[in-house]
Amino acid sequence: MKLAVAALFAAVCAGWIPLVAAQDTVPAAPVPQEERVVFPASVSQGALIFGKVPPGSQVRYRERLLRTTAYGTVVFGVGRDEPGPLKVDVTTPSGRTESVSLAVTLRDWPTEHVNGVPPKTVNPPPEIAARIQREQALVTAARVRDDERADFALPFQWPVQGRISGRFGNARVYNGQPGAGHSGMDIAAPNGTPVKAPAGGIVTFASPDLYLTGGTVLLDHGHGVSSNFLHLSRIDVKVGDRVEPGQTIGAVGATGRATGPHLHWGMNWFDTRIDPLLVLERGK
Ligand SMILES: [Zn+2]
Repeated sequence: MKLAVAALFAAVCAGWIPLVAAQDTVPAAPVPQEERVVFPASVSQGALIFGKVPPGSQVRYRERLLRTTAYGTVVFGVGRDEPGPLKVDVTTPSGRTESVSLAVTLRDWPTEHVNGVPPKTVNPPPEIAARIQREQALVTAARVRDDERADFALPFQWPVQGRISGRFGNARVYNGQPGAGHSGMDIAAPNGTPVKAPAGGIVTFASPDLYLTGGTVLLDHGHGVSSNFLHLSRIDVKVGDRVEPGQTIGAVGATGRATGPHLHWGMNWFDTRIDPLLVLERGK
């Protein structure tokens, strides 16, 4: 018996018996289905990007280790001014590594003139500037969390129906003075119109009276993806509440720096601002 095994071993070593198909004679083996890493080849500025990796993979984008769902979904945002290409590094549970390069499609950002804004909101006096800074720090802190929930993975719905009165990313000039790119999307709707959660989430911030943004609610959709709803006239939720898709969270208003009633809906991946319209279109 021992002799037979030894003979077989010798035969294999000598190449007489091809126990395993010689790998160098067939084309490079395709990556098996369960090992596949899938990202779009090109992405838009302001987009929320979904990728698929083997569950349990380590996925790195920039300095961040991305959380993966049980199904191997990962998500990250592309900044408004991101030139690309982007690089995502994946290590699968089997130890295989793959580096994915994503080209970025540049968008152009038209200039929008917003006139009739209260002057003190454009050039705030020092004490107001300090208040704005304090309030922004609170909002920024609410966007640090990286929850396991995958509320972001379901299609998003419009929080209110209405005309888009301001697009994400547009360069803004307030009362003739250049401001930052528009951080979200404005939807015109009458004062008091219910604002519905575009996706499920946890309320991470709620304040009726921030200086610039007025009635403000932040909703965390998991994996660093969040929504913010500004200028609300009413808030129906509190911090820590679990909100289901379509649930009313407040009402449209014109509080803070606003020239008329509308909903400003912003979205973030951590501190990267993304375009809600692209997120809506993905769900179509
Ligand atoms: Zn806005």
